[in-house]
Amino acid sequence: MAKRRIITFAVLGCLAVTVWAMFSNWRNRTFASFRMPEAVQVDDSTYSFRDVTALMHLLVGKDSALVIDTGFGLVDLKGAVQQLTDLPLIVINTHGHFDHTHGNWQFGGAMVSYKDLETISRHDNPQYLKENFLGNPVMKFLLGAEMVDKVCNQPSSPYRPLPKSMSLDLGGGRVIRLYEIPGHTPGSIALLDEKYHRLYTGDMFCSAGVLLQFPESTDVETYLQSVRYAKEICLQSGVEEIFPSHPDSPLPVSVLDDFEKAALRALGPDRSGKEIKSKTSVYGKAKLTLK
Ligand SMILES: [Zn+2]
Repeated sequence: MAKRRIITFAVLGCLAVTVWAMFSNWRNRTFASFRMPEAVQVDDSTYSFRDVTALMHLLVGKDSALVIDTGFGLVDLKGAVQQLTDLPLIVINTHGHFDHTHGNWQFGGAMVSYKDLETISRHDNPQYLKENFLGNPVMKFLLGAEMVDKVCNQPSSPYRPLPKSMSLDLGGGRVIRLYEIPGHTPGSIALLDEKYHRLYTGDMFCSAGVLLQFPESTDVETYLQSVRYAKEICLQSGVEEIFPSHPDSPLPVSVLDDFEKAALRALGPDRSGKEIKSKTSVYGKAKLTLK
């Protein structure tokens, strides 16, 4: 009996060691500091990169190139970009959350909505990040304590506020137009690539769900108006795919219909015919987390 127990413990011990080794290996590969991220080619002048969970996008024109979001700052995004283009770089953040702005230091700064300057300065504070996002045991286990420290303590860099509207000519007929779509944060923006009919939408319409519960998030009515505005932009500009700043990307523009219905549902029975009782509102492929 004792022998059998010893064998069982030995097998379980081996299993635990193997699982831990596999997990550590995955964690080291996934979160290896300053590795070169792999570029996913959308076409011969458009690329996406991944950094932990965030997506960054590169749009290359004839005279300059646009970097949309810079992720956690843990990968060598600038190095990866410079492997693809030596043109002058313009860097824009879709909004002020740290998982999209913490790589700005690599580029010496970035532009972000004037409405998100308060959010971005809060997210630049290591203590705030630890207390509100990364200091919990789950994140420490997943990322490792050392990586949590690295994410929280990325060097800060200057921000230039974006104007209310803007057209950015990258050359070669590639014009990028800025639209304000408040919701997830007050300064959330969409960037329309007029030449390729694509809309870059940050965290406003993500397949994993949209978070509207932050102190800086707008009310649902404002979010609803932004969904409808994005739908209108897509319709007017022949956009068939949107490019969020978290996987999956791209998403078909039809997902905006689901986000519209989810927002209506969140606004109560008089708007959608159905009442929601929880802090989430789901419709089709859209999920909203509410205050
Ligand atoms: Zn965000």
